[in-house]
Amino acid sequence: MADRKTADLVLTGGTVLTLDRGNTEATAVAVADDRIVAVGTDAEVTALAGPDTRVVDLYGRTVLPGINDSHLHGAWLGVLWPGTVMGSGGLGGGEAAPALSTPGERRAAIRRTGDLVAALGITSYTEPGLGPGEDAGATGCFSSGVLDEYIAMANEGELRARVTVLRLFGELDGPSTLADFEAGLATGLPSTDPRWLNVAGVKIFADGIPPMRSAWTHRCYHDGSSGHLLVDGGDPAEREANLRRMIDLAHRAGAQIGVHATGDRSIEVTVSAMADAIAAHGKAGRHYLIHGDLVAVDVLKRLPELGIGLNTQPGIAVMTAPWLAGALGDEALAGAWPLRQALDLGVGVCLSSDAPVIEPDWRRWIAAAAEWLNEEGVNPDLMLKLLHCYTVTPAVQDGAESWKGTVEVGKVADLCVLEANPLTVAPAELPQVGVQMTVVGGRVVFEG
Ligand SMILES: [Zn+2]
Repeated sequence: MADRKTADLVLTGGTVLTLDRGNTEATAVAVADDRIVAVGTDAEVTALAGPDTRVVDLYGRTVLPGINDSHLHGAWLGVLWPGTVMGSGGLGGGEAAPALSTPGERRAAIRRTGDLVAALGITSYTEPGLGPGEDAGATGCFSSGVLDEYIAMANEGELRARVTVLRLFGELDGPSTLADFEAGLATGLPSTDPRWLNVAGVKIFADGIPPMRSAWTHRCYHDGSSGHLLVDGGDPAEREANLRRMIDLAHRAGAQIGVHATGDRSIEVTVSAMADAIAAHGKAGRHYLIHGDLVAVDVLKRLPELGIGLNTQPGIAVMTAPWLAGALGDEALAGAWPLRQALDLGVGVCLSSDAPVIEPDWRRWIAAAAEWLNEEGVNPDLMLKLLHCYTVTPAVQDGAESWKGTVEVGKVADLCVLEANPLTVAPAELPQVGVQMTVVGGRVVFEG
């Protein structure tokens, strides 16, 4: 299929995994301005080339939609890289990042992440939590100032990846109050082109993480505790009421809600509150659970109908599984991160890195997902499913599936070129498949 415009860029002689509804394959793709104008055979697509068109022979390489790392702390990564929190051997604070305190430092960190993600074929990411709750934070990586810098860079055309932002009105991995949340939600922001910077909604920390015994769980930790909600309140009932109120307020304000929830109890309350808000005020919102370590299968089953997604990190699952078992026992681990059930039930699963907790290399985390599923061999169907979790489904999370996430005519030209076809390699080999080129909005931002 093609429209009649002369192309600026033609990629030909390869495999194009469109990841469209039928997972159609083609051999060539053409781009004009920021859009895909043709996908098809080499002959069909090169027909759109003119004297000024850059024609790239793929020599059998593979084109994918640009990768969307739907949970990545961009400014924090830019400061810490090549360090990571897990790379320093723990989740309890990790490597201390030098504080970002000036606009120039913030911009440099965002730029550094822009370069890093471009080299990985990542063309979109979600910055999950920036706002006033972190203005006095130790790292400065999640402050309102960082959001201001993103806004400035978006308006100057300086972003190298499309960014979605969730605003944070409490502390990162810490407490929040209903009063701060309500006041924050009422504050406006300068407008930006949502195709480059979309301040889509809010992030709420419902609880912590199982290895720190801060996830709110039905099961007791070995010390007899079972965690609690991080949302402020005089007792557990008031904490829960305040979390429910936050979700209701944000839903009514038309904001997307991403809730960090790892314990089965916090997940139950979160989904119940989202379901109540949807029932009372109508659907939409594209809300989602972040991490979801101990989500119960009964809760998973409700998510597709409610349109609630699950944003989870297989790399963290693989690395921290022994710590979860250490905190809550082997039985808890056996039911944790039910990725297979989530995929089989049709839950909107986004896989992501949570960089810089771990590194942002999506190829490693697709391999980790396959490892979690005990799928070692070449399996094109599984690989397609996992690739969807890094492209098509995060576009849905972004409310952007009409214009990004697949290689189809009319969509933005966000592309990732790999040196081999991921459908032909075992998942464990994927990290060795090099990224050859990254295109964002028709602009080549990386060439290997
Ligand atoms: Zn995170």
